[in-house]
Amino acid sequence: MKIAIIGAGFAGLATAYFLLESEGIQVSIFEAHKVGGGASGVASGLLHPYPGIMARRSHRGEEALAITKQLLRVAEAHTSKCVAIHRGILRQSLTEEQYIRLCEHCDVWGDIEKIGEDLFLIHSGITVLSENYLEGLHRAVSEKGGELIIQKIETLDELKSFDHIVIAAGYGMRTFAECQHLNVKFLKGQALQMEGTPPHDRSFISKGYLAHLGSEKHFEIGSTYEREFQSDAPDLEIAKKMLGCPEGEIIRCKAGVRVCNRSHYLPIIEQVADNAHVFTALGSRGLLYHGLYGRILAQRIQSITCKEHFYF
Ligand SMILES: Cc1cc2nc3c(=O)[nH]c(=O)nc-3n(C[C@H](O)[C@H](O)[C@H](O)COP(=O)(O)OP(=O)(O)OC[C@H]3O[C@@H](n4cnc5c(N)ncnc54)[C@H](O)[C@@H]3O)c2cc1C
Repeated sequence: MKIAIIGAGFAGLATAYFLLESEGIQVSIFEAHKVGGGASGVASGLLHPYPGIMARRSHRGEEALAITKQLLRVAEAHTSKCVAIHRGILRQSLTEEQYIRLCEHCDVWGDIEKIGEDLFLIHSGITVLSENYLEGLHRAVSEKGGELIIQKIETLDELKSFDHIVIAAGYGMRTFAECQHLNVKFLKGQALQMEGTPPHDRSFISKGYLAHLGSEKHFEIGSTYEREFQSDAPDLEIAKKMLGCPEGEIIRCKAGVRVCNRSHYLPIIEQVADNAHVFTALGSRGLLYHGLYGRILAQRIQSITCKEHFYF
């Protein structure tokens, strides 16, 4: 069974990894630029189950986190670089509603603790070094036989020789006719990598966030949420205007486009043609959900494949 995946970001690589757990499946990943060539390559790496302005515990958060941790371990085993910082994440409550909700989480769940007047420590929070993680996960996929082909796919007709196609193209999904009906919106995000001593000893979420980068001298601040944008390329002036001018030297401005589900915050996996599936809308929760939904999609494709074999 030959499966083509369009896109080598969190979604595409996680799906490839879980598909390759089964016997008799060959996976080819078509990537227009490079591994992490889209939003995944610029993600700031914050991973925890309480994201968003409402500070709700994410649906299936525990399970999703456990699967991402499994993939982090896999990636760690395939690179000598640091893949993730397991030191928890600080979250400041900014409104009474957030404060009440976070206090409730402290009572119900064992992974979050109130440590100051308006400050909470999410013990389960992890800061992922996205580029290193993608490198390790890609190597793990290659070791299982997945091949990476650097080629931009214009239409699904180019992939006729494959039994199944997975569109995991992030912002690139907008160009495929099969995805036009999806109820999604696009939000550009920019983050600034800084040289200087981080003001907190852990990654810190408040109105924006500060992400540690595994070095005492570097950190990252983010992120913008731009509804209107001319280009998906970094724009330092806009980033500085929206994020404020932090102390320290700016060493890099990063940008990517998030695909967000308009109906709710969960990703979309959907069959969009006889043999084509889309995996998109990971929004700001790519790290939390790529493993869980990648595994669900892989299982769906495997079960279709089993039925096809049964008929013949
Ligand atoms: C600044 C910023 C910070 C973020 N921080 C966080 C964070 O801290 N935590 C978190 O969980 N999430 C974060 N996110 C969100 C996260 O990055 C996304 O949810 C996630 O990367 C989406 O992954 P994806 O695989 O769906 O898409 P992408 O990562 O965009 O992958 C799609 C891939 O497909 C390729 N492609 C596109 N079109 C084609 C084509 N036609 N042919 C071949 N290849 C194609 C692209 O080059 C790309 O490599 C952040 C996003 C941004 C922009």
